[in-house]
Amino acid sequence: MCCCTLCWNEPFSQTEQVIRSLSSTVNSSGDTVDKAVAAFIDKYGVTERTRRFLEAEKRHYINGEFVAGAEMMPVLEPCTGAQLAAVPSGTSAEVDAAVAAANHAFRHGEWSSWTPAQRERVLMKLANLVEENVQTLAEIESLDAGKAIAGCREVDIGGSIDLLRYMAGWATKVDGATRQVSVAGQHFAYTLKEPVGVIGAIVPWNWPFNMAVWKLAAPLAAGCTVVLKPAQLTPLSMLFFAELCEEAGLPPGVINIVTGRGSSMGNDLTRHPGIDKISFTGSTEVGVSVGKAAMENVSHVTLELGGKSPMIVFEDADIERVVEATQQSIFFNTGQVCSAGSRLYVQRPVYEATIKAIVDRATVMRVGPTLDEQTDMGPAISAGQKASVLEYIAIGREEGARIVCGGEDPGGEGYFLQPTVFADCDNSMRIVQEEIFGPVLVVIPFDDEEEALQLANDSIYGLAASVFTRDISRAHRLVKKIEAGTVWVNTHDMIDANTPFGGVKQSGIGKDLGPEQLDHFLETKAVWIAL
Ligand code: NDP
Repeated sequence: MCCCTLCWNEPFSQTEQVIRSLSSTVNSSGDTVDKAVAAFIDKYGVTERTRRFLEAEKRHYINGEFVAGAEMMPVLEPCTGAQLAAVPSGTSAEVDAAVAAANHAFRHGEWSSWTPAQRERVLMKLANLVEENVQTLAEIESLDAGKAIAGCREVDIGGSIDLLRYMAGWATKVDGATRQVSVAGQHFAYTLKEPVGVIGAIVPWNWPFNMAVWKLAAPLAAGCTVVLKPAQLTPLSMLFFAELCEEAGLPPGVINIVTGRGSSMGNDLTRHPGIDKISFTGSTEVGVSVGKAAMENVSHVTLELGGKSPMIVFEDADIERVVEATQQSIFFNTGQVCSAGSRLYVQRPVYEATIKAIVDRATVMRVGPTLDEQTDMGPAISAGQKASVLEYIAIGREEGARIVCGGEDPGGEGYFLQPTVFADCDNSMRIVQEEIFGPVLVVIPFDDEEEALQLANDSIYGLAASVFTRDISRAHRLVKKIEAGTVWVNTHDMIDANTPFGGVKQSGIGKDLGPEQLDHFLETKAVWIAL
């Protein structure tokens, strides 16, 4: 396995030029791009627009203006662990200003008078601008979130463009209904679908741009306005997106982006009386507290939370598909994927062969620098996340699971991990029950369908699951009985703008994507007219 975490630190002349160009650009808050990061960027190259964005001072985006923060906090680049940027560490005053702007835009501003067709056009324009800047966005996201750039461009940014276009189309297709009524007298009754209001959107660090677009596109199509807080580890792509919102011509206050810490500013946003709905994606632990806080104001709330999704492999399965699915989920994005197939249940006759096929592929994955187009897997997001994954690997060893791949700390700069597979696990182990959120697969044998189903459903989570079999009747039987928001058959982690996504049990409440998501941003008003 190649794990070339140090290979961009060679001295060469072009590097020095970019070091001068990036690190000598001290913005008004006195922050610079660290030399190690500048050297890394120069080795692989970035667009002129990425370079300009990185050099510029980072500000909140409130009421159509870029607003300087009173205090700044550093943003680190995960391949080097060095400073990439600094962003405002927001305060309650900035949350107040953003919520006030969003309220004005929703209730009195230009946005409140826009027709559905105008909203559709602006969302289409935004999608086109994201597409025109796909490379810049992928570079910013890759540097900020430690994502291998090829997958980031295609999945994170490409998927976001599709969703913006999909939801743009819905703006003009929101309908109420006429209702027959049976009370005495002559009446005409109908329903009106109206936007819920001001949305407080809070997103995690594993898909910073994509999750934010998941939170923005549907409410904007419905006519709502948004205050969005990115994760403190990964705020940059949304600040670049703010520039595109300006270019697209979104009226002031429609989208507001405030950066800062969840425990303070995120909490202020959740509890703000000016928020009509909280749309949250993140861990179950934080989601529970966010949900309680939203209820104090009787705000609407949707929660997209954690997962520990099972993949069930029967003896008649196409093992090559299983291998592909593990590459696309537990080893994609360094395993920092909410719906990753992190628990693999394999029927005994194909148990060892399946493990071998997965390990053979995992050991030739290219783990390395995120800006390298050939990289399959980048680092973990942070030192803390890397430490947490390594701790789970140590727990797995103590619990008696058999390591068949990876499991070591590759060392060196940055937060790199190895693709890791534990065999001979059982459902009583913490590594089987808890969300590790890293490239760690746990494999458990089973004998028959009934046992597989019982093991798969033995979890507090219910985000997603998959079944691998050539027996169509068995597939349908299991689809009905598995407790999960999504069930894939002979694949895993397929997502489309037109297919709802969201969990059951402790994986969440409500759906993102599809027409189902749009409904979460619409109120139904009943109207009666006496004739
Ligand atoms: P966290 O729950 O730690 O954080 C999510 C967001 O909430 C961040 O923006 C965070 O801010 C903010 N936050 C933290 N504390 C509070 C608070 N008290 N009030 C309001 N906001 C707060 O999750 P992670 O960022 O660690 O993301 C990983 C988790 O997200 C995993 O559990 C994963 O499964 C889940 N996830 C679920 C998805 C789904 O669709 N179901 C999709 C993607 C991820 P800050 O960063 O500043 O702390």
